[in-house]
Amino acid sequence: MGEFIVTGCSFDCGGNCLLKVYVEEGRITRIAPDDLPDSLATPQLRPCARGLAHLQRVYAPDRLRHPLKRVGERGEGHFERISWDEALDTVARELARVKETYGPQAIFNLCGGGDIDSRLHHTVAVPMRFFQFFGGYTGVSTITSFQSVLYACRHTFGMPVPDSDRENLLKSRLIIMWGCNPAVSLKGTNTNWYLAQAKEKGVRFIFVDPIFTESAAALADEWIPIRPGSDTAALLAMAYVIITEDLYDRDFLDKHTFGFDKFSDYCLGVEDGIAKTPAWAEPITGVPAETLARLARDYATSKPANLRAGWAPGRTAFGEQFHRAAIALAAITGNTASREEAPACGCQIALARASSTGWAPSPLAPTPCANGSPTSHGPTPSSREPPAAIPATSR
Ligand code: SF4
Repeated sequence: MGEFIVTGCSFDCGGNCLLKVYVEEGRITRIAPDDLPDSLATPQLRPCARGLAHLQRVYAPDRLRHPLKRVGERGEGHFERISWDEALDTVARELARVKETYGPQAIFNLCGGGDIDSRLHHTVAVPMRFFQFFGGYTGVSTITSFQSVLYACRHTFGMPVPDSDRENLLKSRLIIMWGCNPAVSLKGTNTNWYLAQAKEKGVRFIFVDPIFTESAAALADEWIPIRPGSDTAALLAMAYVIITEDLYDRDFLDKHTFGFDKFSDYCLGVEDGIAKTPAWAEPITGVPAETLARLARDYATSKPANLRAGWAPGRTAFGEQFHRAAIALAAITGNTASREEAPACGCQIALARASSTGWAPSPLAPTPCANGSPTSHGPTPSSREPPAAIPATSR
């Protein structure tokens, strides 16, 4: 007779879903999801297929389960099994030798997020603590997959990666999923559940993504393909339309932001002579100018609208500008809103918590459009023209 042990998934996809692990005679025999009563107030913390597949992962025949030592030349691929004592002695001896010979800065502690940042052993914090006691180390200043959004939030919001409550998705009239595929990369437990609820409520979904993703297949009313790495140009072109057609939220800007005039000058080309029009963005992004203009009008006039700016577009050269532009777009339309005024949405990194505590964002300084700008490194080159926009419902 076994027992259920309640634990959480440690894959660090942005969630920590509840897993009910059934253990019989010291061996996992099955994993079940959360089955507590479900409601909007206390939604279940449902795992995805990946989390439920922990059983196969734990008992995978090719999983490394004991220390191995290379024998032969590097690259030959020959290893022999050694004891844990020998492995620990070897590592300790080498750490001491390197520190004594070259100083502690010669020890590079490469740790990051993702799967290795597990909740049980915390392979980021524990090594840091260890090496601090050991005398120091050289580490990485950030997590590479995360730096652009972190930089953008710190410099635009003044705080690291805030987000609006997912309940706000249900209050939206329009949700733009930009480089965002939560069916695969969740961004927090139950995000999909909230998105599904929003869909059932009739909220309109537009996906901007080079790929027609699983999430788009499930939710999209419209899919706008875009050339990879060109997202900032598209967002700036939207800002151009919103500014020139007087669709921006002057009250919100006056009350909660500063720097709009500079941002506006940049978009209109006052600063560099290049107006960031939809026609300017079309050859960069592969998105027709009229589609960008329509998207801008939709976003500005469908308040409250939620721009879910995924992290993937920021994982490009100058990707932080994508996040800054998304934040700017949410701000100029007032969709980055305070709880009191429009308890709705913003971009993924919304202002809700910040403004409710009296905090004001830092300037929306003109951000030279490196990601997507023809005046700089420009977009990821692509000889392949993206397909024409396809209403997802026709697929
Ligand atoms: S959604 Fe993320 S945290 Fe939840 S089960 Fe899947 S991988 Fe694990």
